[in-house]
Amino acid sequence: MNFNSVTRRSELFRLITIFTSGFGAASLAFWALMLTRIGSAETFGLSLLGGAIAALAAFAGAGCAHVYFLSLQRPSRSQEPSTLTDPMTELLSKKGLEQELLRLFSPKKRIGRGTGRWMLVSVEIDAFRDINDAHGLETGDTVLRVVAGRLARLVGKYGPVARIGGSEFAFAIELSRDDHELSAVMSSVIDEVAKPVNADRKTITVFCTAGLVELTRGNLSVAKTLRRTKLARATARSSGLGNWAIYHPEMTRSASYRKWIESELPRALANDEFDLVYQPQVNNLSGKTVGYEALLRWTHPQKGVIPPSEFICVAEMRGLIGQIGKWVIRRACEDSRLLDPGVTIAVNVSPKQLESPFFVSDLAKILEQTHTDPGRIEIEITENILICNHDEVREQFEQIRHLGCSIAIDDFGTGYSNLGYLAELPFSKLKLDRSLVARLGEKENAGALVSTIVNLAHALDVAILAEGVETEDQVILLRAAGCTLMQGYYFGKPLQLMHSDRTVVPLALKA
Ligand code: C2E
Ligand code: CA
Ligand code: CA
Repeated sequence: MNFNSVTRRSELFRLITIFTSGFGAASLAFWALMLTRIGSAETFGLSLLGGAIAALAAFAGAGCAHVYFLSLQRPSRSQEPSTLTDPMTELLSKKGLEQELLRLFSPKKRIGRGTGRWMLVSVEIDAFRDINDAHGLETGDTVLRVVAGRLARLVGKYGPVARIGGSEFAFAIELSRDDHELSAVMSSVIDEVAKPVNADRKTITVFCTAGLVELTRGNLSVAKTLRRTKLARATARSSGLGNWAIYHPEMTRSASYRKWIESELPRALANDEFDLVYQPQVNNLSGKTVGYEALLRWTHPQKGVIPPSEFICVAEMRGLIGQIGKWVIRRACEDSRLLDPGVTIAVNVSPKQLESPFFVSDLAKILEQTHTDPGRIEIEITENILICNHDEVREQFEQIRHLGCSIAIDDFGTGYSNLGYLAELPFSKLKLDRSLVARLGEKENAGALVSTIVNLAHALDVAILAEGVETEDQVILLRAAGCTLMQGYYFGKPLQLMHSDRTVVPLALKA
């Protein structure tokens, strides 16, 4: 795994240089010896010949040395150095990386012919815009430089490292085909990059996601490979922050599927193809339904039901989540009148929706227009929001509470919550993620983990609700841990409100 910068040609020039310089020096010495005997006519001709040979050897040596030292310079003089390196971090630029990879993987090179595999890895700092917004551009630049330094130290001796975009980095590395080694390397890269950065007397929390593609010899298209690392990153991010994923061709198919969804979403909104289903939330002590979570459904005229896991992220990426989210809130408010007045309606709000400065005023307007008691609406926001701009999130939460709606932190236990910060936020419920519930009774430490989160909720004086409860055993274990609010298939699947001839039958739910 050695990136030797000396090409074979320059190696040849080096040998010629040594030989000709040595030969030149020897000839000079010989000529000097002849000059001491210049008085004799026989030696004069010989010394002239010696001088000529010495001059020729010196010329050849100088020429070779010139070519040799030129070849040592990377990038070569014919290229613009400024475009090959990134001035901010002094890593390679995207173009520099491309050239370096093409050079390393040129047909003449032996690289990539061994038993190992060369991986191109792209790493992106998550929510970097929030770092810039919250701490200023200078601090953002410091974070970029620190991360660049970390990557250069960790992987720079094995392969080229570049900054390829705003907060995107990439590097190439050769690894064995052992997946454990790959896993260990990626864990250390992510752990190293995601260490907090001290800048401007502040500690900045950093998160990152990585995507990998195996580099193969022949017809290497660096741009295409980088695009694939990006697709892998998108997949890694969809399963939470701080993850990495290897590219698979399926991801390209998913990318075209996402493009299709993107083109269909505006039409779906206009044609009223969305609907809400409601899943009961029960108090397992009293056996009563205390609330419903509103879940979005899209029935495409040709493709049928498209689950939210497939279109919410596209709507977020393409800026359509604001419109869809407003539709969801309005419909949930309208439906709240048809459900038992004592129950709350939980509405999922994506972190991207909260980025809109109009979110709270839109919510207020909808509550007023639909004559909805704000106390019945609970806004569910995923735990990931807690990594974003702290002050802005706190302000939004306070404004939502001020309107009279409550807030629940969704999918709790999967992300990176800063507990100190969590304690400062005005929310009233933690929703224990279903992955933790699923492990109950299966993994030894799952019970202890759930008890810790339940105790945390009690300490913060907020309610705790377990999601994805499917079995009686889980119910028993949750109750033993002190959690009584539950939601999941064990109690009921999400159900559609019955509409008949546009007249809604109150409180009636059908499977
Ligand atoms: P979520 O907010 O965690 O919603 C719970 C998901 O778990 C729902 O999937 C629900 O059907 C499913 N579920 C409920 N009980 C069980 C169970 O016992 N076992 C299992 N395996 N699953 C259970 P769904 O409806 O497909 O929604 C998926 C995600 O899509 C939601 O996860 C939420 O993040 C998002 N989503 C749904 N509706 C909306 C919406 O209106 N707005 C936004 N922004 N996101 C939404
Ligand atoms: Ca939810
Ligand atoms: Ca959830």
